[in-house]
Amino acid sequence: MKKFIIGNWKMNLNVHESSLFVAKLNQEVPIEKDIEVAIAPSLLALQPLSLQIDHKQMKLCAQDCYWRDSGAFTGEISATQLRGLAQYVLVGHSERRHVFDERDRDIRFKVQAVLRNGLTPVLCIGETQMERKDGDTEHVINDQIASGLLNVGSDQIGDVIIAYEPVWAIGTGDTAQISDIEQAVKIIRAQVAHMFGKEAGKNIAILYGGSVKLTNARPILCAEGVDGLLIGGASLIAPEFSGMVKIAGEVMKEQTEKEAK
Ligand code: PEP
Repeated sequence: MKKFIIGNWKMNLNVHESSLFVAKLNQEVPIEKDIEVAIAPSLLALQPLSLQIDHKQMKLCAQDCYWRDSGAFTGEISATQLRGLAQYVLVGHSERRHVFDERDRDIRFKVQAVLRNGLTPVLCIGETQMERKDGDTEHVINDQIASGLLNVGSDQIGDVIIAYEPVWAIGTGDTAQISDIEQAVKIIRAQVAHMFGKEAGKNIAILYGGSVKLTNARPILCAEGVDGLLIGGASLIAPEFSGMVKIAGEVMKEQTEKEAK
């Protein structure tokens, strides 16, 4: 099993700045065994960065895509157009759901489009502060998984990554408690198992996102069932991002040694 460290740059850095930042990452990000690193720059920067990055060091992730493969959809970009540029695509990020009012149906179609085009969807799910206060977290997670993965084939589920990102923790500096993350991960695995079988529930890669930084990355990476991090703000600070890749490598090594005993 691998661990994933994905940096979401959101709507930051122009093409030139992105290139300079990648040059810095290229110097700092270590290549760790079984750690998959990806960055999600602006769509504009994907093409030049695809020529600049060291593909052994990191991969590229798109922040979104449309679900049709081509056609009269002005301003949109399809998973088909991302082929050869990005390997991963974020789907249903909370900013897409809540700022752009993206619906469950769009998210489900996007997951299918990404898979259809041979890329890996990172399906983002998570409850709002209000839903959490109302005790609806489990219900929301189950619904978002059931809806987002509807019509995904049992032969495709192994290619899906889930990112649990409580909305109230994104960009706020508030990180979820380890026990809450572990509980959410358990719920996600049970729901995936319910839909696709026990093995799928056990094997699906689940990331945590929400105000992760260098100082809190280790306990989150060590949390039961967590396979990596989706990092927003801190991914734009080279020593923070590279430091988290290094920590992921250390945690992976510790866990592998523990399992071997
Ligand atoms: C994100 O953009 O997915 C995210 C988790 O952001 P931040 O790390 O800034 O909370």
